[in-house]
Amino acid sequence: VASVVIVGAGQAGYQVAASLRQEGFQGEVTLIGDEAGLPYQRPPLSKAYMLGKIGVTNLRFRPAEYYAEHRITLVNEAVSAIDRTNRRVSLASGAAIGYDHLVLAVGAHNRVLPVPGADLDGVFGLKTMVDADALIPRLKDVRNVIVIGAGFIGLEFAAVASALGASVHVLELGDRPMARAVSVEMSEAFRAAHESWGVHLDFHQGLTQIEGTDGKVTGVVTTDGRKLPADLVVFGIGVIPNIRLAAEAGLDIDNGIKVDANLLTQDPSISAIGDAAAFPSHLVDRYIRLESVQNAVDQARNVAARIVGKPAPYSALPWFWTDQRDLKLQIVGLHDGADATVVLGSAADKQMSVLCFRRNQLVAVETLNRPGDHMAARRVLARAPLLTPQVASVEGFDFKAWEL
Ligand code: FAD
Repeated sequence: VASVVIVGAGQAGYQVAASLRQEGFQGEVTLIGDEAGLPYQRPPLSKAYMLGKIGVTNLRFRPAEYYAEHRITLVNEAVSAIDRTNRRVSLASGAAIGYDHLVLAVGAHNRVLPVPGADLDGVFGLKTMVDADALIPRLKDVRNVIVIGAGFIGLEFAAVASALGASVHVLELGDRPMARAVSVEMSEAFRAAHESWGVHLDFHQGLTQIEGTDGKVTGVVTTDGRKLPADLVVFGIGVIPNIRLAAEAGLDIDNGIKVDANLLTQDPSISAIGDAAAFPSHLVDRYIRLESVQNAVDQARNVAARIVGKPAPYSALPWFWTDQRDLKLQIVGLHDGADATVVLGSAADKQMSVLCFRRNQLVAVETLNRPGDHMAARRVLARAPLLTPQVASVEGFDFKAWEL
């Protein structure tokens, strides 16, 4: 491989470029992203950056000189098509760039609110630095904030907005916070904490309309017909993987760009990683798509290693974190299908670990302000990987390396 082109200059795309150079790759590396400026990390957008605790320099992975010094060509443009036959991508400007290997690290976009009024001024999603920069000045004199969705992004924003003195009301269709990702016990700890900060959590509740005057948001109408005042509406109702490029190039799609255990699409010259990729998980024996920094970074490292001749099936242990005021939640493993939990510590003390078991096997550990337990859980869960036929039959599978 003499040239690698990476589409998407987010967490995963940046990491492929950086890891290729760390691995000693000597060929051309081109990192193409459709956002302006230098690649940056997203997690602080809804945390320290939103609170004004860190600035843009700290959001960026690296300063401009890094890319020059490491011969990483950064292109701020959208890729509009992939020509698999001639192995090149076309840019929106009309230019084409050839590749020996192509990495799709295109991420995901926010699901939009399917209600009238979603286009009013004062309604925000939170995905990019542009979104955060538009939102931050609004927080200065905001009074009534409506948050749609009690997932990670919605609750992180609720935590920030309430800390800044706003009255915050969260609408959530489900029956508990972060239900997709955490145990009932951990949801309950976060519900109690948010309520203690004055955040109003409204479950089994969506909205039918966002109301406005002169183009500006003034309130929302809930599904049970209440009118709630709002000068700011922030939604976090999930993301949709960016599959268009891959689908138009004829690559397999299944809730994301489908890849094998080596993170390759059905085209051996194209890998897909990060939020956009659906990969076979050895932990749950099905294709999954994860939206986390760990997944983006570890998949990027795996692909870079393969490109320099060190292939290995992807088997990293998933982990995740969220910060909400004085609560740091860390999750390791996948709690899919967990059928029993054991709680250590207590939510009241804001020091708690929830051990999640499936068929008597520890599958995930959620820790609240217990980083020691989190690190221990990472060691314990990494110790005995489940070897499945899918993993063992992958080309390059090495039993001795697996056992270590
Ligand atoms: P991204 O980082 O989204 O990068 C994809 C890039 O590709 C984007 O810049 C996109 O514009 C670009 N792109 C798409 N199509 C094209 C194209 N055709 N041409 C060129 N460029 C293209 N994770 C955690 O683990 N912990 C957290 O606390 C946490 N907090 C978060 C807070 C916020 C506000 C957000 C938005 C995310 C958070 N995440 C967190 C999730 C984490 O940031 C993502 O999982 C991670 O960024 C995924 O990396 P990625 O490279 O796959 O996608």
